[in-house]
Amino acid sequence: MEKIMKKERPRLLKNMNTLQVEALLAAETPLFLPIGTIEAHGRHLPVGTDSFCAEKIAEDLSIALDGAVAPTFEYGITRVLAQTSPASFFPEELFEAFIEKVIENFRSQGFKTIIIVNGHGGNRESLKRVVRKLSRVRPTGLAVINWWLISEQYVERVYNCKPGGHAAVEETALMLNYFPELVENANYASETDDYVPDDGIWLFPPPGEVLLSTHGQGRPDFDPQKAENFAGLVLEDLQKRLQRWLNSFKRIKGGLRP
Ligand SMILES: [Zn+2]
Repeated sequence: MEKIMKKERPRLLKNMNTLQVEALLAAETPLFLPIGTIEAHGRHLPVGTDSFCAEKIAEDLSIALDGAVAPTFEYGITRVLAQTSPASFFPEELFEAFIEKVIENFRSQGFKTIIIVNGHGGNRESLKRVVRKLSRVRPTGLAVINWWLISEQYVERVYNCKPGGHAAVEETALMLNYFPELVENANYASETDDYVPDDGIWLFPPPGEVLLSTHGQGRPDFDPQKAENFAGLVLEDLQKRLQRWLNSFKRIKGGLRP
């Protein structure tokens, strides 16, 4: 995390000229692709939360791992919150075909390692299908990060409670860390915003958008210091996992298949 601490600037593909892009390819630079959505995140977080988190995590990891960052895709697949505006209604087939082509294009243009940073639970199944398919047809290093799942193991340590879920302690922490001006603490009220989905009764729309796994656990917390600690732990963990993965390619003699 040393480089991140020094506030180095990320290398954003959209800011680069073709000479700079050629240099990225010559160095076999890993390319980060942030994917989010627009979706309700309670009344205290913006509807772009998933895209914001994916983008900032991708930027910080790219600094730590000498990568570059592709433009963010900000429309995803909304499921349970489809009736709360302005949910993104990207259908699965279109989403998968589009993401598949974007990755294939980067691969055929010379990027050999592509790391998707996903910020939205509704995209998970589709992204899994896409990378499974592509790993069988292209010699590409492909990773998908669902950051909030990695983050859950650090909730207890920093917040002394169980993990929350959607628009809860994890996402509130990341938004406080990166965009404190977009977090509206005063809008949040547990009675109005929290909801624990129950398989015994399906409600569309759910009566609150802060979706918790356990009653009273993992609620949004607005302490900026805790948010910074939490984000630091998540980034350090992700960096270690990716570093190990990138180093491991050398084990495969003769390069990646197929
Ligand atoms: Zn979210």
